[in-house]
Amino acid sequence: MTLHEKTNVFRPFENENPFHFECRPDISCFTECCAKLRLLLTPYDILRMKNRMNMPSDQFLEKYTETLFDQHSRFPMVKLKMKDEEGHRCPFVTERGCSIYEDRPEACRLYPVGRASALVDRETNTREKYFIVNEVHCRGFEEKMEWTLEKWLNHEGVKEYKAMNGPWLGIMTSSKSLGPKVHIPKKHQMFFMASYNLDQFRKFLFNSKFFDHFDVEGDLKEKIKRDDVALMEFGFDWLKFSLFGEKTLKVSQ
Ligand code: SF4
Ligand code: SF4
Repeated sequence: MTLHEKTNVFRPFENENPFHFECRPDISCFTECCAKLRLLLTPYDILRMKNRMNMPSDQFLEKYTETLFDQHSRFPMVKLKMKDEEGHRCPFVTERGCSIYEDRPEACRLYPVGRASALVDRETNTREKYFIVNEVHCRGFEEKMEWTLEKWLNHEGVKEYKAMNGPWLGIMTSSKSLGPKVHIPKKHQMFFMASYNLDQFRKFLFNSKFFDHFDVEGDLKEKIKRDDVALMEFGFDWLKFSLFGEKTLKVSQ
């Protein structure tokens, strides 16, 4: 979710009521929203952004992100680092708008819509609530263009991101036990690597005896060597197996 430092009004969607909004380069507040953000990144956000920047994931994380982790967090989170200089702008914003527009994170696609995910039951299903983030500086709400939530999500390409991140959100919001306390730091490291540092995860898989211990079909093994999305999806299965003991991977006999 994206949160701006200024005071905002959060309006829930009521009975699929439409909202009026348009964002264009000729609008007086253009790019004002791309600053001072607490912009949390998902695995698929990072995959798209690091490939867009043609950077390995560890370099991308080092240059563009900060890790958030405190005693209340169940898992480490990653947020986009705003610039240190005055204005604390997003590193990707230019006078012409977002320089990585086609690969912008899901929270930027959703905006001015926000989404909250809440735990529903022990089977890791999540319930989502959408709302309008009506920021004081945003002039886009004065425009005539009309949207329903469904139309907005389709228009901004949110559905692809949602499908890609769905299993990960299930892991994040799962109430399943992480097991004995002594194993938790190690499990946090595994979570971080498979969620955010995909290139390191690939090295871990192929430079260790991983495939001696797990029965992974040859075709899938070849795919995760080359394809980041297949690797990310395999990582989610590995996390479910390693964190919660789910039978998502087959152990070699
Ligand atoms: S503040 Fe609103 S209208 Fe202005 S650039 Fe951002 S989203 Fe567009
Ligand atoms: S990634 Fe792009 S859309 Fe998102 S805050 Fe940065 S410049 Fe704005």
